[in-house]
Amino acid sequence: MNVEVLAPQHGNPQRERELAARLRIVRDLIAEACSDAGRQPDSVTLVVITKTWPSSDVRTLAALGVLDLGESRDQEAAIKVHEVSDLDLRWHFVGQLQTNKCASVASYAHLVHSVDRARLVTALDAAVEHNGRAPLRCLIQINLDAGDSGNAGRGGVQPDAARELADQISAAPGLELAGVMGVAPLVGDAPASAAFERLRTVADSVADDHPSAQIISAGMSGDFVAAINAGATHVRLGAAVLGHRPALR
Ligand SMILES: *Cc1c(COP(=O)(O)O)cnc(C)c1O
Repeated sequence: MNVEVLAPQHGNPQRERELAARLRIVRDLIAEACSDAGRQPDSVTLVVITKTWPSSDVRTLAALGVLDLGESRDQEAAIKVHEVSDLDLRWHFVGQLQTNKCASVASYAHLVHSVDRARLVTALDAAVEHNGRAPLRCLIQINLDAGDSGNAGRGGVQPDAARELADQISAAPGLELAGVMGVAPLVGDAPASAAFERLRTVADSVADDHPSAQIISAGMSGDFVAAINAGATHVRLGAAVLGHRPALR
């Protein structure tokens, strides 16, 4: 029988030890990467991505001091957010977003990382106006694929269109432009560091126009050290903390 089914409410000491151990390693690696880059350790926020993992893991993480959690699909996120609504957490929405999910996402998100088109700006702004939780902080997701190899549906606006989208977000009364986000390409020989440097350039140009847009959300389990080196302020880690998740689709 599945342990999660047997004892989700009462915790699972083995799982708790496992998460605590991985979290310690990850925090040490983040601190080391900061030190190597000449940055303060508290200049990077760890967002643990809990997609596919149960809310019992969210509780364990919260007890270990992780209050920034992320999800990539609204259906799953909305249920999980509700299950742990007694905790004071900051939920990050990091996945591709559809306009019909904007009302739901706006109801729980502390930061939406994946705004990549004008229609989302309109839909999120309308959602905020409707439920009155202004302002909703947003990042522009930048497509970091070099050339036009196709981005396999990972989303993101082309770098040269970022400034226009930034202006749209900052003109929306219910939204606050907080920075940029990127996902390094999965395939090819180009190192993630080159993609993160491109993101940094876009981040700088957006921040020139909008000085409060200081967040750079970059780096996942396989490449967060390179992202910190290139200036990431938020790293989004799933597997490095929670283990390898079952296939999503
Ligand atoms: C799943 C996901 C992550 C975390 O990925 P890991 O490789 O498990 O660290 C980060 N960012 C986004 C957008 C994701 O969908």
